[in-house]
Amino acid sequence: LNPRVSALAAKERLSEMAAKLRRHAIRTTPQRLAVLKVLAGSANHPTVEEIYEEVRRQFPTTSLATVYKTVSLLKSLEEVLELGFPDGSNRYDGSRPYPHPHVICTKCRKIMDPELVNLDEMSAEMSRKTGYKIMYHRLDFFGTCPQCQQRR
Ligand SMILES: [Zn+2]
Ligand SMILES: [Zn+2]
Repeated sequence: LNPRVSALAAKERLSEMAAKLRRHAIRTTPQRLAVLKVLAGSANHPTVEEIYEEVRRQFPTTSLATVYKTVSLLKSLEEVLELGFPDGSNRYDGSRPYPHPHVICTKCRKIMDPELVNLDEMSAEMSRKTGYKIMYHRLDFFGTCPQCQQRR
C-alpha cells in the first residue's frame, strides 16, 4: 500500500509503455517519455494536471495539451487506466493499467490499490449467478482514509 512504486517496477512499466508506443510507430519524444515516467512511477493515481506539474519541472515548455494528448494516447493503447468521476476529476493509473479494485477517500481523494484475495471468486460468482461471461470489472470502495479519520 505504498503510494510510491518501487524503482524497479517503475522502470519495467516505463519500458513496457515505451515499447508499446514504438510498436505502434508513435514517436517517443522526451516530453512524452516524461509523461510516461510520471505515470509509471506513481501509485497515487494522479490527475492530468498533477502529471503536467511534474513534467514541467523537467520540461518547462510542456503544454497541458501535450500531457492530455499523451495520456489519452496511452489510454487508447490500454497502457493507462482511467478512473472517471462524476465531477470530471479523472485520475490515472499507469503502474497498473488493467482493471483492479480501488479504495477512495471521500475527504482527501487519496486512492489506493489494495490486493483483494477473493476477487477471482467474486467474478466467478457473478458469472455463475447471471450467466454473463465476465471480461473485466469496475470496483470502487469509498470511505475515509486512516489519516482523515485521525484529523477529525
Ligand atoms: Zn483521506
Ligand atoms: Zn489503481
